[in-house]
Amino acid sequence: MNKREKHLIEKYSRQIMMDQIGISGQKKIFNSSVSVIGCGGLGTSAAQYLSMSGLGGLTLIDDDKVSLSNLNRQTLFSEKDVGKSKSLVLSERIKSINNSIKIIYFKKKVTSKNIKRFVGKDKIVLDCTDNYESRLVINKFCHLEKKILISAALQNFELQAFMTSSWSKHDNPCYKCIFPELSKDTAMSCDEMGIIAPVAGLGGLIQANLAINFILKLKSNFKELILFDCLNLDLKKIKITKNKKCTVCN
Ligand SMILES: [Zn+2]
Repeated sequence: MNKREKHLIEKYSRQIMMDQIGISGQKKIFNSSVSVIGCGGLGTSAAQYLSMSGLGGLTLIDDDKVSLSNLNRQTLFSEKDVGKSKSLVLSERIKSINNSIKIIYFKKKVTSKNIKRFVGKDKIVLDCTDNYESRLVINKFCHLEKKILISAALQNFELQAFMTSSWSKHDNPCYKCIFPELSKDTAMSCDEMGIIAPVAGLGGLIQANLAINFILKLKSNFKELILFDCLNLDLKKIKITKNKKCTVCN
């Protein structure tokens, strides 16, 4: 074993010692790459924990700049970063956590025209955006390009999360099956309805957790909506079904 291998084995020893991971599981994490679309509350927390797990590659996409009101929940930004590009600052912070990770960042908003170029070969896409229009673009892209989509959304003390693989089985739903049209809740972003710090962090953590479970070929359920009420600490899972009239996955 060379020096570099010894260093990595020590760094990730608490994961490698788990029966469900081992050396082979850790290698799967090293060899995986994930796109994080939206580098706000969800995106910073998901990217941080994925990189700490030893993920091989991250693509960070966001056209926004850090603002003072982001700092209550966007864990890796500080007051010195206000006015700077979120995807750029996040890529620098992540590098300091895991210097072997390959990071690509884009200071752009995803559209149906550019998303394929940004996400590239990443198998897993985390939707960490806060608007319905981007969510539809990401969902359609993931369905057509056979990507695993892991989505989360936040509102006050509540969060919801799910993963979809609508292309892999005829009865797996997509995002649009669950949210066929713009409702008042899906239309509002954190800026409009308010969000408390730990809830944003938890949303990103759940996304990172679902991604790692998928990478390790552990439990992945593509027909389940996770609802977490952080005020009562009440977790619910709801079975989700395909909409036979869905314009994306049918
Ligand atoms: Zn659908």
